[in-house]
Amino acid sequence: MTKFEELGLQDSLLRAIQDMGFETPSEVQEKAIPILLNEETDIVALAQTGTGKTAAFGFPLIQKINADSRTTQGLILSPTRELCLQITNELKNYSKYENINVVAIYGGASITDQARQVKKGAQIVVATPGRMQDMINRRMVDISKIEYCVLDEADEMLNMGFYEDITSILSHTPDDKSTWLFSATMPREVATIAKKFMHTPQEITVGSRNSGSDSVRHEFYAVSGRDRYLALKRLADANPDIFSVVFCRTKRDTQNVAEKLIEDGYNAAAIHGDLSQNQRDLVMKSFRTRQIQMLVATDVAARGIDVDDITHVINYQLPDEIETYTHRSGRTGRAGKNGVSMVIVTKSEMRKIKSIERKIQKKFEQKPIPTGIEICQ
Ligand code: ADP
Ligand code: MG
Repeated sequence: MTKFEELGLQDSLLRAIQDMGFETPSEVQEKAIPILLNEETDIVALAQTGTGKTAAFGFPLIQKINADSRTTQGLILSPTRELCLQITNELKNYSKYENINVVAIYGGASITDQARQVKKGAQIVVATPGRMQDMINRRMVDISKIEYCVLDEADEMLNMGFYEDITSILSHTPDDKSTWLFSATMPREVATIAKKFMHTPQEITVGSRNSGSDSVRHEFYAVSGRDRYLALKRLADANPDIFSVVFCRTKRDTQNVAEKLIEDGYNAAAIHGDLSQNQRDLVMKSFRTRQIQMLVATDVAARGIDVDDITHVINYQLPDEIETYTHRSGRTGRAGKNGVSMVIVTKSEMRKIKSIERKIQKKFEQKPIPTGIEICQ
């Protein structure tokens, strides 16, 4: 098995990696890191969620940055503010033995504060496309000298309608930079971006057998519609150490379910688009630190959230799109851990289970709702 020491990473990074407790590189890291360290090349790297893409571009980027210059040398575009903050934190961890300034730029927070931080000399800027475009328009950031541009979760960014912003942002960057595109999937729009803005990129694909999804068990619990909430409580009771994301279809249901859980004494909170940036940050912080065991979320709010060791994904309601189910269940069973994706369904939704099974090529296990008695045993 390859070791981090064999990939050509400098000492300060190896020490940081050791501090983080990473033992061996994941497949995408093993493949991407030597190329990005040794060649000034464009790259398209495809690997499923949870395979360690952040470090795959983050380690080489940190090593490539000239810490003696305060010019902005690296730009990372990422779909959501949560992801922006997450990547920024990770990069700060990676570079703890270096003097590198990483600044996050995202909507919903003061643009002047962010501009001030950039001005102090941000060698790496991590941005959502919308806010980045805004700051370029206001001449608050200069990306004309960047050497590395990372498009992280490119498929998600394009799904969210950032095509125009991305192309416009890229037009403000120099031609001779290297572009590193990371994505879980390669829909046509991603291919278009690669073709239009990249110079004969090298391609890395990590097989789906490493996706981590194999370590997810899929279960469904059949209920009548009015017993949905009761079923959720029973599932929580039967799993006292649960650390889960509970998915609902609408902001309103998300809020209602969270409120009911809290009333009933569970450590729960809601996250959805009607909350302020501040509220969302607070909720995410409490979840990350395990003060909250059940995060009730809409699909949009949960997008890209990467929290370790989620034990259960609960589909309180099934999504319309099967692909969304894949994204949901991908929140658990990460980094080699086991996870369970539970679906609460009514009879009329059983057909959906069948279509999901066909899509994910795995069978669901039908389980009875745990009864009170079993829980007491
Ligand atoms: P992706 O972007 O591919 O979805 P992330 O970069 O967010 O994946 O990584 C998923 C999780 O795996 C993170 O919690 C990260 O800290 C962890 N991780 C990444 N690389 C390693 C490694 N080599 N060893 C152990 N854990 C790792
Ligand atoms: Mg990622």
